[in-house]
Amino acid sequence: MSEFPTRIAYEEALAIVRRVADEWRLAHERIATQRADGRILAEPIQAPISLPPFDNSRMDGFALRHADIQRTNAQMDSSIRLRIVGEQFAGYDTGLRIGAGECARITTGAPLPAGADTVVIKENVREHDGAIDLEVVPDAGADIRRAGEDVAAGDTVLQAGQVLTPARLSLIAALGIADLMVFRRPTVAVFTTGDELVEPGLPLAPGQIYNSNRELLMGLLRAQGLEPTAWPSLPDDPARIESQLRDAASAFDVVITCGGVSAGEKDLLPAMLSTHGQTHFWKVRMKPGMPVLFGTLERAAFLGLPGNPVSVLATFSRLGRALLNGMQGRAEPHSPWFAALAVGWDKTHDRHEFLRGRLSCGQDGRLSVTPHPADASHRLKGAADSDVLIVLPEGARNYLSGDVVEVVGY
Ligand code: AMP
Ligand code: MG
Repeated sequence: MSEFPTRIAYEEALAIVRRVADEWRLAHERIATQRADGRILAEPIQAPISLPPFDNSRMDGFALRHADIQRTNAQMDSSIRLRIVGEQFAGYDTGLRIGAGECARITTGAPLPAGADTVVIKENVREHDGAIDLEVVPDAGADIRRAGEDVAAGDTVLQAGQVLTPARLSLIAALGIADLMVFRRPTVAVFTTGDELVEPGLPLAPGQIYNSNRELLMGLLRAQGLEPTAWPSLPDDPARIESQLRDAASAFDVVITCGGVSAGEKDLLPAMLSTHGQTHFWKVRMKPGMPVLFGTLERAAFLGLPGNPVSVLATFSRLGRALLNGMQGRAEPHSPWFAALAVGWDKTHDRHEFLRGRLSCGQDGRLSVTPHPADASHRLKGAADSDVLIVLPEGARNYLSGDVVEVVGY
């Protein structure tokens, strides 16, 4: 077979995936803010206005001039009375001006009337005969939200490469921005392969199994906000595999397959890719997922995942996500999470390992993770009962209970 890296370290595989993803960076598109959730920003966002846009009240109450209500302790027995000269509700600016001895009724979010510099909440006054008596004297400037205290006009509030979370989209909406530039979403074609596969709902003949990886892959992709397209499962037939995969690779940005990448007689994908495309690597020193295949085919990035379900989970979660994030220009790394092992684990091999585990947070605020004892790559139930991958880097090591390890959610 032609020259390409093989049996490489996991970190090296990740670096190759990231480099290729940068080369395959998708184009920008301008879309409505309303439709941008989960997308990656392709431009920095500058605030066209300040937030809040104007000085306004933080509470329902009365706007007043603090100079009118200053009292020494000795004067506190005499009540402070202010005449109500108008109303200022949210949504309008009535152009009201507060003079000496005056106040205005105000609601939360209403612009502060000229002359006023303080708000007293309605619970702290007694209202009668068109006036208020203050029962509690507020501090100067109390309960006022100042223009620009959250964001000053002209500030850069978000950077290219950041993911648009609901809070960030809300900030963009508050700034009045109705559309923005994001990276295009990759189109993803999903293939399962294997003569043994039958779709759920159909009868099983001897030797057959149900196709479970399609649900896994489609779910993992949808959780990334993508809308993947699945094909009918491919038989282990070289001509069918070649024509279907090349066809999809001409029309989609990314082709993801599972199965057919190890060393068996029916593992046809590595030869297909090196003959008709370009192989960037085949086989990574990781467990599970060792036979993972990565390259390009036609106009698509090609990721060939191994067939065992837990291998799909590990290889997609690390290499697949890195590819899809990189192609979308995501430049905001997740900070890794760490947890203490709840039980020891004797890692007797050299490969970079991903165990499945259950994460929990104790009353002491410490995260701990319990590795699932069923660590073989076909043990789907163990993966279903778990919620994280436990990362054990290259090298044999006897991990003790309490040792801190990296965990990756799935
Ligand atoms: P392969 O890499 O094609 O040799 O597959 C490795 C193992 O994963 C075999 O036991 C396959 O039967 C199983 N496998 C492959 N594809 C799927 C799938 N889509 N759903 C469930 N198991 C699969
Ligand atoms: Mg197979």
